[in-house]
Amino acid sequence: MWIPLSHLLDRLRQPRTRADETRRLRERLAAEPNRGEVPQEEALASAELLRLRRELKAAIGEVVSCRTCAVGHPPPHGHFAGGHCCGLVTEDAWNDDEIAALRQSGTRAQDLRLPKGDHAGCAFRGPTGCSLTVEHQPNLCVRYLCPDLFREVYARGDGPQIAALCDEMEAVYLRFIALRAQRVRDSD
Ligand code: SF4
Repeated sequence: MWIPLSHLLDRLRQPRTRADETRRLRERLAAEPNRGEVPQEEALASAELLRLRRELKAAIGEVVSCRTCAVGHPPPHGHFAGGHCCGLVTEDAWNDDEIAALRQSGTRAQDLRLPKGDHAGCAFRGPTGCSLTVEHQPNLCVRYLCPDLFREVYARGDGPQIAALCDEMEAVYLRFIALRAQRVRDSD
């Protein structure tokens, strides 16, 4: 059985569970069509999602809520002090629509860089947060504001602007899902 070199290296450097989950993700990513292989409307929606991820991340900026939100929680969420919402099962953030959107907006297998440290929740969660740049994060991850973070940005004064970007992203994401589902149905 052929094993990719990247996976062998991950097996040497990473906890086995993280290495194996990442291999499956990279294979799923590679199996998705790129932007030139899908209808234009779908490719435009994935490009819009990339723009919104960047805008939303910039609008949220530096925050303190995410640094200590997991303190006192049971593992895997509480394994690190911060990033409680990243304590989920990797595949729950990386559904097929997210992977398809990322592939179309240019994410490659080698862009899925891993953190150093224990595996506690999502494969990309490390002791200091997510190891991915916003270009390669699922839309869900960028759009999700837990109650603490929600309160923080509202106290800062830019909550309404951020909420509007979240709503816009949700609408584009739903459009992307519908377009992708139609393409998959048409190809059956
Ligand atoms: S991809 Fe990053 S932000 Fe999303 S759940 Fe995983 S660690 Fe958290």
